[in-house]
Amino acid sequence: MPKKNYENSTVAELKAIAKEKGIKNISKLKKADLIEALAALDKPAKKEKKAAKKEAVVEEVKVVEEPVVEEVVEEAPAEEVVEEAPAEEVVEEVVEETPAEEEVYFDTPRRSVAFIGSECFPFAKTGGLGDVMYALPKALTKLNCDVKVIMPKYECIKQEYKDKMVYRGSFDMDLCADGRSYYVGIMEYVWDGVVYDFIDNEEFFSGAKPYTTIVDDIPKFCYFGKAALAALNYMDWIPDVIHCHDWQAGLVPVYLRTLFNETPLSRSKVVTTIHNLRFQGVYNIPTIKYWTNLPDYVFNKDALKEGYEDANMLKGGLTYSNAITTVSNTYAQEIQTEFYGEKLDAHLRYHAGKLVGIVNGIDIDIWNTATDALLPANYDITNVLEFKKEDKLALQAELGLDQDENKLMIGLVSRLTDQKGLDLVNAIIPQVMDEFTQIVVLGTGDKVYEESFRNYENQYKGNFAACIQYDEARSHKIYAGADAFLVPSLFEPCGLTQLIAMRYGTVPIVRETGGLKDTVAPYNVHTNEGNGFTFDNYDAGLLLDAINRCKTLYFTNRWCWDEMVQRNMAKDVSWENSAKQYRDLYLELTK
Ligand code: ADP
Repeated sequence: MPKKNYENSTVAELKAIAKEKGIKNISKLKKADLIEALAALDKPAKKEKKAAKKEAVVEEVKVVEEPVVEEVVEEAPAEEVVEEAPAEEVVEEVVEETPAEEEVYFDTPRRSVAFIGSECFPFAKTGGLGDVMYALPKALTKLNCDVKVIMPKYECIKQEYKDKMVYRGSFDMDLCADGRSYYVGIMEYVWDGVVYDFIDNEEFFSGAKPYTTIVDDIPKFCYFGKAALAALNYMDWIPDVIHCHDWQAGLVPVYLRTLFNETPLSRSKVVTTIHNLRFQGVYNIPTIKYWTNLPDYVFNKDALKEGYEDANMLKGGLTYSNAITTVSNTYAQEIQTEFYGEKLDAHLRYHAGKLVGIVNGIDIDIWNTATDALLPANYDITNVLEFKKEDKLALQAELGLDQDENKLMIGLVSRLTDQKGLDLVNAIIPQVMDEFTQIVVLGTGDKVYEESFRNYENQYKGNFAACIQYDEARSHKIYAGADAFLVPSLFEPCGLTQLIAMRYGTVPIVRETGGLKDTVAPYNVHTNEGNGFTFDNYDAGLLLDAINRCKTLYFTNRWCWDEMVQRNMAKDVSWENSAKQYRDLYLELTK
C-alpha cells in the first residue's frame, strides 16, 4: 500500500494491518511509527526484492489467470480447465523461466578453481579463515565459477558431516626424502554448488583440534599440500586456478612448480591469499627437506629460506604464486612495512607487483537477523530499535547480568591473543565500568587474558560476563544483544566480527588498522555520518576515549545512535563485490 494511504487510515486500522503483517509490540507504537514500519515493510530489502519479484510473477499469473478461468467457465466446466492447467503448475513454470538475478553473471567465461586450505566452516573453523573458505566459494559459484574446496578430513569434524561424505578413491603417495610414502584417501561431499574434497589420513589428522603444536603441524601440512595436488591429478580435475590459503597451503605453489611440473596440473595458475601474516609455517630446513623431498634450489633466500637455517612455507608459496592477495587494501599496504610485515616486508615489497587487497565479506544468509534461528527475537532494519532490546534482555538473563534494557552493553567475540588488542582492553576496564555499562566477552586463547576476564567478572558481578569458550550460538546472541562491539586490534588483516556486528545493528569500536580501517568509517558528530567509533595509535587512552565518545552518543543522542544502527544494517557487507574481484583476478590470470 502507498505510504499516503496509510496516513489516511486510523491508528486502529493501522494496528490491525501491522498485526496481520507480523509486526510485534504494536501497542507501544505511535501512528507515525506504525506508518514507517508498514511503509518500510512494503519496501523490501534487496534479497526480499528478489523473492518479491518472484511473488510478483506469481501474482501476475494469478491475475492473468483468473479472467481466463472466468471466461472459460462459460464455455466449459470449471473443473476441466483446472485439470488442464492447475494454477500451481503454471506458477512454477513461470517462476523457473524468470531469470534469477545470479544468472545475469553467467555471461562471463566459466573458470574452475580449487581452494586449498586448512579449515572451512562448518566442518572445522578456528577463525575467519574458516568463514572465508565457506562463503567465498559459495559466492563464486554464482559468478560462473566451478569451485572445489580441498581440506583435511580431521578426526574432529562432526560425525553428521562425516556421514555425508562419499569415498572418491585412494592411493599411496611418495612424500619423504627417504622414500617413505603415505596413504591419501579422498572423501567427497557436494553442498550448495560447491564440491568439498577431504584428504583422509588418520596418522596426520587425528586429535581434538585442527592444529596442535608446530612440531606436529609442519609434517601435517607438508603432507596436506602435496596430497591436495596429487588428489586433483588423481581425480583428473585440472582447475584453471589453484587458490591457496595461508601458510598451511604455502607449499602448494612450490610443489606445483617443482615436483608437479611435468603433470597436467602444471598448466593451472596459482593464487595465494594471506589471511594472517603472523602465521607462516617456519621450521628448520632439514626437517622440511625431509618431509617434502623438495629440490635443494627452492631452499634459497628468494624462496623458502629464512635467516640462516629455517624454511618458511608461506614465503616459498608467495614466491611461486602468480598472484598474491590479502584480505583488505590497508593490510596489503601495511604488510609491506616493517611494523606489520612479520619479517616478510622486504619479500612482499619485492613481490608488490602481484599483490592486491580484496576485502572480505560475510555470508548474509547465515548472518541474517531476520531469520537467525539462534536469536530469541528476530528483527530487521524496520523494527531493530524495538526487538534488539529483547535480545539484550534475553542475553542478560542467560549470562546472569542485571536485566536492564537501558544499559549500554559492549560485546567482544574474539580469539584471546595479543593481536586482538586485549592488553588495551584489560588496561581500561576499571575506567569503563560504571552502573550504566555492561561488557560481555566470548573467547578462548591465552591464559593471561582468560584469567583477567574471569577476574573482572568477579569484580563487576551483574555487569561483566566472561564466557571463556568457543560457542557459535552464543556469538550470534552477543552480536544481536550488544549495543556496541569492541575490536581494538593491534593488527587486523580484515576482521569479520565488526562486519557481523554492523549487520546486526551493533556499533563497532575499532582501531584504524587493516580491514577495520577499510570497513568502519569513523562517526562524525557534526555530519552524523559514519559507522562506528575509531582510534588510530595503539594506545589504551585512545581506546578509552573512543568508548567514551560511544557512551556519550548512546546516552545523550539516541536519535543519532539509532540512525547509525540502521545505517550499519543497511551497509553492504556481503561477498558479492569482493567475489567479483576474485573472479576478475582469475579471468585476468587465465586470459
Ligand atoms: P580471526 O580470523 O583473526 O580469528 P576474524 O574476525 O576474521 O578473526 O574472524 C573471527 C570469526 O570467529 C568470527 O566469525 C567470530 O564470530 C568467530 N569467533 C571467534 N571467537 C569465537 C568464539 N569464542 N565463539 C564463537 N565464535 C568465535
